[in-house]
Amino acid sequence: MSTMNLILMGLPGAGKGTQAQKIVEEFHIPHISTGDIFRAAMKNETEMGLKAKAYIDKGELVPDEVTNGIVKDRLAEDDTKVGFMLDGFPRNLAQAEALDQMLADSDRKLDAVLNIHVEPEVLVERLTGRFICRNCGATYHKLYHMPKVAGTCDVCGSHDFYQREDDKPETVKNRLDVNIKMNTPLVDYYQAKNVLHTVDGQQDIDKVYQDVQQILKSL
Ligand SMILES: [Zn+2]
Repeated sequence: MSTMNLILMGLPGAGKGTQAQKIVEEFHIPHISTGDIFRAAMKNETEMGLKAKAYIDKGELVPDEVTNGIVKDRLAEDDTKVGFMLDGFPRNLAQAEALDQMLADSDRKLDAVLNIHVEPEVLVERLTGRFICRNCGATYHKLYHMPKVAGTCDVCGSHDFYQREDDKPETVKNRLDVNIKMNTPLVDYYQAKNVLHTVDGQQDIDKVYQDVQQILKSL
């Protein structure tokens, strides 16, 4: 029986979440999001979860050995026998190497790394597009959801809008820069291993998914 052992990569705003959902629905492999695992491990107060919580509570990065341990535990669960889709892991080369070791130790291999690629300028447009009605809190987006009448809130008729700090160009650009610096070595690493598949994330959502399907069905 063939497995489907995947990593899903993509910068913030690339549409990774949407594609992840579609992949899981069609291919029935567990979606292993390290963010979700951290939250669950902390909630269930597992040994690893408590370790992670101690760092997060101090506002520090969770060390690789803790993150790796959490992923290793998750990959030991039965539902991953048919495959898995990692999301948010690995974040750096040390974690990528640890993953290689985990898979080798359990006689598995990575089948594909899907990288949803969108040019940084386009990501900035997507990520800075959100604005909010100051009066009623209704949210809009310059690309996806403009008010029906320009400058007037659909819900309450107010003309007063603002942007959250997180959605401002400076903040968004900094966040993207940090992510690009982290992602680039990983993309190179998987390229060199011949498992990298780059998907054009600037197409519409259904076309992006068609490309994803084509890759996954060819594995
Ligand atoms: Zn409003």
